[in-house]
Amino acid sequence: MRIYPLFYPQNMDQIPLPPQGDNARFGYCLDLVNSFGAEPRCAYCGLWMGEPYEHFLLMTMDHIIPKVLVVRKRSGSGPWAETEQLRRFVMSAINCVICCSECNGYHLHTKPTMEQIHTPPQTLDEFMQLRDAVFLKKRERALYRHRQDRDRWKRNWRT
Ligand SMILES: [Zn+2]
Repeated sequence: MRIYPLFYPQNMDQIPLPPQGDNARFGYCLDLVNSFGAEPRCAYCGLWMGEPYEHFLLMTMDHIIPKVLVVRKRSGSGPWAETEQLRRFVMSAINCVICCSECNGYHLHTKPTMEQIHTPPQTLDEFMQLRDAVFLKKRERALYRHRQDRDRWKRNWRT
């Protein structure tokens, strides 16, 4: 089963580079649009961020399998870092989606609970299966959080 908007390479030759750029909106996200035909739409909640400008400001990029597994700011490397292939998969565009800053923020709280991440995938197929499973879990979590926040908004902000 293929999940839009995820990219499905057939073999190792099709593993793309990490998204290019030094900035989300004018770099990585634009590269995902130009190189992979991604839409400027949140992969989790569906928010269109191509316009208006105020929506565009919310555009970020998410590594579906968290990149802390291979790169850490302080110690330099995460638990999967010793495997060059895993590092390549995690940093590649196959593991990246455009998403809104709100959905990206929700995921900060779900990352430590992903028990699947403790078993590193050995092959491209295993990586893709894990990526898809984590993506679906993140999307479910983001939609749940949006429903909660929308209810609170209706109760507290609308007259
Ligand atoms: Zn979103």
